[in-house]
Amino acid sequence: MSTENKTETICRSCIDCAAGACDGKHGTYPSFCLTADIKDGGEAAPLCDESMDKYLNDPEDSLIAKASATVEFENYCKMTRIEEICEFASKIGAAKLGIATCVGLLREARTAAEIFRHKGFEVYGTACKVGAIRKTDIGLDPEQESLGPHICNPILQAKILNEKKTDLNIVIGLCVGHDSLFYKYSNALCTTLVTKDRVLGHNPAAALYQADGYYSKLLK
Ligand code: SF4
Repeated sequence: MSTENKTETICRSCIDCAAGACDGKHGTYPSFCLTADIKDGGEAAPLCDESMDKYLNDPEDSLIAKASATVEFENYCKMTRIEEICEFASKIGAAKLGIATCVGLLREARTAAEIFRHKGFEVYGTACKVGAIRKTDIGLDPEQESLGPHICNPILQAKILNEKKTDLNIVIGLCVGHDSLFYKYSNALCTTLVTKDRVLGHNPAAALYQADGYYSKLLK
């Protein structure tokens, strides 16, 4: 497909917006703006009403929304993410934290657990290879065992933390997709401390910052 045809078929949305006027600070709404459409009673207006109903009338959602906004307000540009997680956990009344870690980041997970324990939380963790199931046992090609014989087992990680009745689960460096399964099976709320990027030192945003530079290949 040519670039011109691709452009014609793109359905514009927030990811095509350079204004960000919905933050209430600057700019004007573009022609395809979702907020402008909602204010005009467009198709997302009922969804906006549903979200408001959750914030106002669902006790858990209300607590989480207010706690996360307050963590941002009180600590803006002052706290690191791990400090913000501690603050957030305290504000929602979480006493028992689960850690779902990549086995390759066990050292970092131990440090995180030490910090959480120092702050008074109970901590229980599961590593991604827990259960030591062979890759071939779930139908993967034997060739894939060259990276290590065992699967990442995010479903088991989540199920063990569910059994332990953790209040808030914290992901440390699970692979793309394995994190998706963990989120899917976790009973507790989840947040992420470390997002895995093996090439960029767990800073995936670096590829975006360099998309017009060292990582311009991503757009070719
Ligand atoms: S809601 Fe409107 S102003 Fe906000 S990011 Fe989306 S398109 Fe841009």
